[in-house]
Amino acid sequence: MKLKTFDFKDVENKKILVRVDFNVPFSDGKVQDDARIRAHASTIEKLVNAGAKVALISHFGRPKGKVVPGLSLGQIVGDVEKAYGRKVRFVGDCVGEKVQKALDDLAKGELLLLENVRFYEEEQKNDPGFAARLGKPFDAFVMDAFSASHRADASTNGIMSVLPSFAGDVLVKEGEMLGAVSESPLEPYVLILGGGKVSDKIDVVGNLLDKATTILIGGGMAYTFLKAQGYPIGKSLCESDRLDFARATLEKAKEKGVKILLPLDSVAADGVEATETAVVDSDAMPESKMGLDIGPKTVKLFAEALTSAKSILWNGPLGVFEKKLFAAGTIAVGDAVAKATAAGAISVIGGGDTASAIRQFGFEDKVSYVSTGGGASLEYCEGKKLPGMAPLELK
Ligand code: AMP
Repeated sequence: MKLKTFDFKDVENKKILVRVDFNVPFSDGKVQDDARIRAHASTIEKLVNAGAKVALISHFGRPKGKVVPGLSLGQIVGDVEKAYGRKVRFVGDCVGEKVQKALDDLAKGELLLLENVRFYEEEQKNDPGFAARLGKPFDAFVMDAFSASHRADASTNGIMSVLPSFAGDVLVKEGEMLGAVSESPLEPYVLILGGGKVSDKIDVVGNLLDKATTILIGGGMAYTFLKAQGYPIGKSLCESDRLDFARATLEKAKEKGVKILLPLDSVAADGVEATETAVVDSDAMPESKMGLDIGPKTVKLFAEALTSAKSILWNGPLGVFEKKLFAAGTIAVGDAVAKATAAGAISVIGGGDTASAIRQFGFEDKVSYVSTGGGASLEYCEGKKLPGMAPLELK
């Protein structure tokens, strides 16, 4: 997806409001991981270097429309200064006179950080009056918070009706990479689906079934598909109300010539806390066990399917990767994706759990792109128009 970007003349000497996602993991009074802050560095540097006066706006936690001091963005000023190497002035509101005054007083090269926008209940109601108040002190708006772009809030959507609006670098990169593996994928196109539930991935399957060459299904969702084909699945995850969907998907894939590959074997155990595991073939899952990872035959099958891939989209871990005993399948497929990438494939990892797994196992730099948005990347791949992105789309 191509988006409307800013250039020098759009921002020089202008007051620019930038929507960032500073909803960072925070405990014991400290930011535990500043990756989300660092992600916006390129957009902010470009704006400041172009001579703009920049104010940053974000949500932080779930204050539900009330002022919650423990969720004040004032607590992360030091981390923002460190991430961007710039002086950051904090203002304890995101609308009104205080913001106007702080902007007027802002020195060249400094940044302004506004208070948590979700302290106002109007934010998540996408209230047009509130969007107008947010926009009042500014000349233009830059949307850089892809991970919040599936929400129709005042600071992600309504504001775009108030100010001339542009996409920042994060949004542009997401549109380019997610677009490459969901709108116009090079073939062979391999879609890897895993994670807990079939129901979360139904719309992705619906949108991409036509385009995929091969779909690899692992994780908890695979067992609903296996059961739909008559395999025993023991105590593995199963969504009985999705069996018909699974059957219809397998049928449709056959008609269209799309290969769907299901696990040939699983790493099974009594439960996620078990210390003993056994590899069992898909036609031999004992009644008392649950499948918690794909087995070695499946790893081989999936890795082979990935060797010739030209584009790869991966959403959902292939086992309970949080536990060492059930992480091998996700690691091995990560390795196969890394190899395919080294051989020239474009590989994109959906955000959320899959992104955590990829980072945890050291594949982040070996794939083409790891999305910054969990829910947002899923909705993008479902073919939905994201409220914080679609208004900036160039046709
Ligand atoms: P999702 O948010 O749908 O991508 O699901 C991610 C979660 O699915 C992770 O926390 C995994 O532990 C879990 N998961 C993956 N494979 C399985 C499985 N075979 N059985 C149960 N949970 C699984």
